[in-house]
Amino acid sequence: MAQPDRLLLFGNEAVAHAARNAGVALGTGYPGTPSTEILETFSDLGGKAQWAPNEKVALEVALGASFCGARTLVTMKHVGVNVAADPLFTAAYTGVEGALVLVSADDPGMHSSQNEQDNRYYAVAAGIPMLEPADAQEAYDFTNSAIEISEKWKIPVMLRMTTRVCHSKSVVRPRWLFPPLDPPRYQRNIRERVMIPAYARPAHRRLRAKLAEIEAYSNACACHREYEGSTELGIVTSGVTFLHVREAAPDASILKLGCTHPVPIERIRKFAAKVKRCVVIEEGEPYLATFLRAAGIAVEPKPDMYRFGELNVDRVRRILAGDTSPEPSLPPGKLPELCKGCPYRPVYDILHRLDCIVAGDIGCYTLGVLPPYEAMDTCVCMGASITVGLGMRHVLPPDQARRVVSVIGDSTFVHTGLPGIAEMVYNPPPTGHVVVVLDNGTTAMTGQQEHPGTGRTLDHKPTNQVKIEEVARALGVSRVHVADPTRDPQAFEKLLVDCLNSNELCFVVARHYCILAAPSIREFERRAKQEFDYQCVPGGVEKDGE
Ligand code: SF4
Repeated sequence: MAQPDRLLLFGNEAVAHAARNAGVALGTGYPGTPSTEILETFSDLGGKAQWAPNEKVALEVALGASFCGARTLVTMKHVGVNVAADPLFTAAYTGVEGALVLVSADDPGMHSSQNEQDNRYYAVAAGIPMLEPADAQEAYDFTNSAIEISEKWKIPVMLRMTTRVCHSKSVVRPRWLFPPLDPPRYQRNIRERVMIPAYARPAHRRLRAKLAEIEAYSNACACHREYEGSTELGIVTSGVTFLHVREAAPDASILKLGCTHPVPIERIRKFAAKVKRCVVIEEGEPYLATFLRAAGIAVEPKPDMYRFGELNVDRVRRILAGDTSPEPSLPPGKLPELCKGCPYRPVYDILHRLDCIVAGDIGCYTLGVLPPYEAMDTCVCMGASITVGLGMRHVLPPDQARRVVSVIGDSTFVHTGLPGIAEMVYNPPPTGHVVVVLDNGTTAMTGQQEHPGTGRTLDHKPTNQVKIEEVARALGVSRVHVADPTRDPQAFEKLLVDCLNSNELCFVVARHYCILAAPSIREFERRAKQEFDYQCVPGGVEKDGE
């Protein structure tokens, strides 16, 4: 069927369409707002997409595929890049054979994140090129450019999106298609793929040589756009901030950067020389401004107060006016809360009543920190609940240590909770410990994605299941319980009290489907059973025709 020449797409959808049209052979990732829809759309379009247990695994799987000459796409939210950072830095040395595009979906303003980190610095630290689209069309085009750069220089490339780009729609004209690649095949290249020191040292030099070439490409790249305007004011910008700048300062000269690592210094130097005042307007950290000032280019950075939160047209006007007066505060919104009927509610009731010290984690259950429960004492990052709880148990006096409980969700447990259980078994605190896995059968917070514990793949088809309680038993936890906290809350409370008093290593799986996901999960199970029954009929095809 002929492709439409114009599509109305979200930025995330545009990346998926571009990847599909470019013949990306494998998309991997871990769900995380604002990146989640990229892989879901890629799968809906017929691409091979899979959720990994965490971002490090996703990147490593894609890297393996790219070593064999495949084009690959890896998606994650900004904090996911922290998890993937270990292989990322070495992948820059090993390079790739096909293509590897890493989408980092950053969240300025922390709409659904625990921090506001600016992942442009990852591109610099790891030594990989980075492109920053401003809208869905650019998300499409820059995905293509990222594949092109990755293939040409055999290097992973970061496509840095932000929440507004991921979740805003614009018209996309699918521009061009890549010629199909040869089928993947493995070609031995030990010196470039095995990073022992003797091979890593020349690899680092190769990487720097590639980056020097890519900087020359970036200086001449058509991905940058220059708008001629007043010579009184020039603005250097990138990403979605460009749209705010256009509206706030329609008369200014603007240099909108597409590739922001390597920074196209000479291009910017020429632009800055044409205007009397050159201001860098960027969301997040003063990444570009610092680079340019270090290169001796006289640019004005934004005042420090605008490092925080998203930019918008009003804020850009204020930056240009040098206005650092306090900003009007936003009207207080309604605090989020656990859904009515959420299976976490009775657990938090009990934890609150028992006055537990709760080391918490990332997921819907983080809402247990808010009134009326206020039953969470720490929350750091994915998987940290178990290890932070263990640290508390090691140093608190026994009467307080026995109040410490680590609370984690099912998806998060598989993501990075598992090494915490290994640590617990290996270095048990004197009072033991209690880990509660809130197993609601889905990755609820990001929109009900599957994970290895659900036993279904990204497109909800049945696959092997990682059974959480069996993993805990296999790792050597002495007491493992599975209970439904909604069925008999009193019995669940009694179980928790017993565990807290026991001085043993206790692992409690509190299992009950997320109330919003339950209908879909039952439907997936029904379909899986139907498929199973069909396969069990001798000569199954006939049954279909009966
Ligand atoms: S989405 Fe599901 S897990 Fe999350 S608060 Fe609502 S019911 Fe609970």
